[in-house]
Amino acid sequence: MFRRLSLRLTMLSVVLLVVLYTITSVAVYTTIRSFVMRSVDFGLREAAYRVMNTAVLTGIPSFGSTGSPQIYFLLVENGSFSTIPDASLAAHVKARLDTVKNDQEFLNYTFAGEHYRIFYVQLPTSGGGSPYLATLLDDSQTVHVLSELQSVIILVGAFGMLGAALVGFILSDRMLQPIRRAWQRQLEFVADASHELRTPLAVIQSNLGIVMEHTDQSVEENLEWLNNAHGEARRLAKLVQDLLTLARSDSERMPIDRKPLDLRDLLLHIQDLYETIADMKGIHLTVRANEPLVILGDRDRLHQLLVILLDNAVKFTDEGGEIELAATRSRNHVTLSVRDTGLGIAKEHLHRVFDRFFTVDPSRSREQSSKGTGLGLSIARWVAEAHGGRIGIWSDGLGKGTTVRVELPLNPKRTTALTMGDPQEPSSNGR
Ligand code: ADP
Repeated sequence: MFRRLSLRLTMLSVVLLVVLYTITSVAVYTTIRSFVMRSVDFGLREAAYRVMNTAVLTGIPSFGSTGSPQIYFLLVENGSFSTIPDASLAAHVKARLDTVKNDQEFLNYTFAGEHYRIFYVQLPTSGGGSPYLATLLDDSQTVHVLSELQSVIILVGAFGMLGAALVGFILSDRMLQPIRRAWQRQLEFVADASHELRTPLAVIQSNLGIVMEHTDQSVEENLEWLNNAHGEARRLAKLVQDLLTLARSDSERMPIDRKPLDLRDLLLHIQDLYETIADMKGIHLTVRANEPLVILGDRDRLHQLLVILLDNAVKFTDEGGEIELAATRSRNHVTLSVRDTGLGIAKEHLHRVFDRFFTVDPSRSREQSSKGTGLGLSIARWVAEAHGGRIGIWSDGLGKGTTVRVELPLNPKRTTALTMGDPQEPSSNGR
């Protein structure tokens, strides 16, 4: 598909180039040709009138008065006078001119491989016949140069077009590469998403199937199957929500609404949300943010990002573990970090955890109460990058805990100038 597209693009640009080149070449060639021919014609006409003037003044046309040794003349009155050195050429020219119509002034004549330009003027008749005077110039050289110019234009055009087609094809192919990659990614995304959606649907279907087979039993007796179906339905809803977020971020339909935002405020709010969950799991949660940290950011999206990181930290940290949520300021950015003392990530998996649908070890997640979708960190990365920041993950290996750091640019000039708005409620997109 993309090869055909780049071929079409190349063809289109080459056709455009051919049209432009042809128009330019024809314009340049005709301008040069008409300029050269005009100066030749001017010389011939002048020579003819000079000869005629001498004839009027002296009664005898002067052979030497053409003004140019290359211009010959032929006068046919009662007899014929000619300065053409080649008698056979003179005879042929005369024979040709005898057939010329009166209104013709300039004509081209080829004889023995040479090209001649002739100016022809009718003389007033004193007796019978139709006397005329003609001046003649061997312009083979000019015609040759013009035809060479024509060949050069055609040759340069042909090779130029060939080169343009080749370079155009290579360039268009290269320019389509990012689109090709994005297209490929979208195809993979759709395939992965369909696969991920199928699993919870199949679980819901099978569990509800069991309930349907036991319609004689009470809801309580079927509670296990109903619970399974309910759990998977919730997972499905979250998966759809995550997919929607990523799809919208891909198509840039998810605007980032930047407003002055105190990150310490946000961190304390997140602490409130997760304190009970952490307590229930026997995890010690601390927040370190000593000063107000005002940045221009989208509160809902940054809330979503922190929820993703804390969800993971809680999910992969066992009882007795610790989680620290911190915000620190450096010269031109703020760093948010979520550090846990949990399961950690093996070195070989670290570079892939931000890939969509990537889960380090599915069995590891399955042991936990909530299975992940593998989309959380992809969304977190999008939020960080949409704020002009970046995200990184560190772990010293399995069992050695994990740290995720998010660097967000600080715009001190603007943030200090702006006054803080009302703190907003976290969005329903938050996890
Ligand atoms: P999920 O929705 O499955 O949590 P994520 O994109 O958030 O997907 O994370 C991808 C994978 O990275 C997870 O499956 C998990 O194995 C690993 N991971 C992320 N955070 C942590 C963490 N704090 N500790 C250990 N592993 C983690």
